Amino acid sequence: MLKAATLNALTDAGREESFHAARAIIRHFDGIEFGIEYLELPTGGEVAYVNTGDTYNATLLHVDGEWIYSSWGDVYEAAEAARCEDTGEVRCGYCGEWSEPGGCHDDS
Ligand SMILES: [Zn+2]
Repeated sequence: MLKAATLNALTDAGREESFHAARAIIRHFDGIEFGIEYLELPTGGEVAYVNTGDTYNATLLHVDGEWIYSSWGDVYEAAEAARCEDTGEVRCGYCGEWSEPGGCHDDS
């Protein structure tokens, strides 16, 4: 098992290096290769994660300069909640756009 310090040292590398590092880590773990994907968070940051095929599978993610072990679904939901709390905006259930409460597709 790799030490946390080793993983954190990888955060000094750029995006391309992190991509290759994450692939190498996964090969080291179990010999199975998964794709690395990038996701823009509602709070503006970007998360890189090892796609294991399910939104809520625990996996390796690179978030805000740290490697964490969680699921991208949980990280994304936490970022959505943080944005709602910080800005008072809501996400439209029809088009997915962020707006003021009652805006967008709310006809009531
Ligand atoms: Zn809408």
